[in-house]
Amino acid sequence: MNKEKIIIIGAGLSGVMIAYLLQKKGYNITILEADKRIGGRIETLKGSSGATMEMGATWFSKPHQNLIALLEEFEIPYFKQHTKGISFFETMSFVPPQRFEISDAEEPSFRIVGGTAKLIEKLITKVGLENIKTKSKVTAVKEIENYIEITDSNGIKHTATKIISTLPPHLLVQTIQFEPHLPEKIQRLAKKTHTWMGESIKFAVEYANPFWKENNYSGTLFSQASIIQEMYDHSNNDNKGFALKGFLNGGTYTLTKEQREEKVILQLTKVFGKEAANYVAYHEKVWREEPLTFFPYEQLVLGHENNGNSDYNKPLWNDKLYVSGSETASQNPGYMEGAIVAARNIATQF
Ligand SMILES: Cc1cc2nc3c(=O)[nH]c(=O)nc-3n(C[C@H](O)[C@H](O)[C@H](O)COP(=O)(O)OP(=O)(O)OC[C@H]3O[C@@H](n4cnc5c(N)ncnc54)[C@H](O)[C@@H]3O)c2cc1C
Repeated sequence: MNKEKIIIIGAGLSGVMIAYLLQKKGYNITILEADKRIGGRIETLKGSSGATMEMGATWFSKPHQNLIALLEEFEIPYFKQHTKGISFFETMSFVPPQRFEISDAEEPSFRIVGGTAKLIEKLITKVGLENIKTKSKVTAVKEIENYIEITDSNGIKHTATKIISTLPPHLLVQTIQFEPHLPEKIQRLAKKTHTWMGESIKFAVEYANPFWKENNYSGTLFSQASIIQEMYDHSNNDNKGFALKGFLNGGTYTLTKEQREEKVILQLTKVFGKEAANYVAYHEKVWREEPLTFFPYEQLVLGHENNGNSDYNKPLWNDKLYVSGSETASQNPGYMEGAIVAARNIATQF
C-alpha cells in the first residue's frame, strides 16, 4: 500500500471511478460524499410495478467507448433503446401532432439492464463501502505546508497529502471555502463552466401495461407545444416493468409537482389516448433544486460552455489539489463517458 493518503470529494461516477483506479495502483483512498446517497447525477428509481426509472443519466452510444469497455469489464449487460413504431412531434398546441418513424439505420442509444445505478453499485463493491463517507459535505479546504486539511459539515477535520474534487467546477468554487483562495483564473473559469443537465427536470410515468407499444406507438414524443419536451419508452428490457420517461420544459420548475403531473397526464392523453390516464405512479426530479448539483450562475452560461477546458488538467497547490469530474473531461465532457475519461486522466497522473 502506498503511504500517500488521498481524499476524493464527491461520490458520483467520477469519484468512485477515480477511487477504483487509484486503489488498483495501491493508494489509500477515502471519498467524502455530502449526500446520504452515492451516485450523484446517476439515480435509478424502482417503482411499485417493478419499472426501473432513471432520474439522471440514462443513455450512451457507440462513441462512448470508455463507458462500454467498463461495462464489459464488469460484465454489466446493456440493451438498445426501444424506438420501433410511430413517434410523435407536436409543433403547436392547436394542431394534431405529426407522426414519424425512427429509421433502424439511426445510430442506436443504449441503456443499462436494471438501471444505470448498476454501474455505481458495482464500483462501490470494488472500492469498498467503508471507504466512502456519506453525509460528509466538504465545507472548507486549507493548504497547510505539505498536506491539506478538509473540514466537513459535521465539523470533522480530515487530512490528506492530495485531494481530488469531482464536484461540477461551478459548484466547487461557489460552495467550498479555499485557503489560500484558488487562482483567480480557475475561479473565473469555473463560474462560467456549465453543469450538464443541472437545470433539467426529469419525469417518468409508470404503467401496468405498455399500452403505447400495443397500439404500435414507440413511446417517443418531441414537443415544442407543451410541458413534455422529449420522451421515450422506458420499459425494462425483460418486459416486467413499464414506463414513459423524459424531460419537462425547464421553466416549469416554478409550478408545484401536482401541477406538473396534471399537465403531463393531460398531454399524454391528448397524444396517446385515454389509456394514458390510467397510470400507476408519476415520478420526477427537479435538478435545479438539488443544491449538491446546481448553483445559480452569476451570468448567462450556455449548455456545455467551458466543458473540457484544458486548464482543468493542471493540478493546483504544488500538485496537491486536482479538479476533476465529468465537466473537466477532454472527451465527451458532461456525460458518463466524460466522467470515466476524467477519472482515467487523473489516474495517469498518479
Ligand atoms: C437529468 C440528467 C440526465 C442525464 N442524462 C445523461 C445521459 O443520458 N447520458 C449520459 O452520459 N450522461 C447523462 N447525464 C450526465 C451524467 O449524469 C454526468 O455526466 C455524470 O453522472 C457526472 O458524474 P460526476 O461524478 O462527474 O458528477 P456528479 O454525479 O455530479 O457527482 C458529484 C458528487 O459530489 C457530491 N457533492 C456535492 N457537493 C459536495 C460537497 N461539498 N462535499 C462532498 N460531496 C459533494 C454530490 O452529491 C455528487 O454525489 C445526465 C445528468 C442529469 C442530471
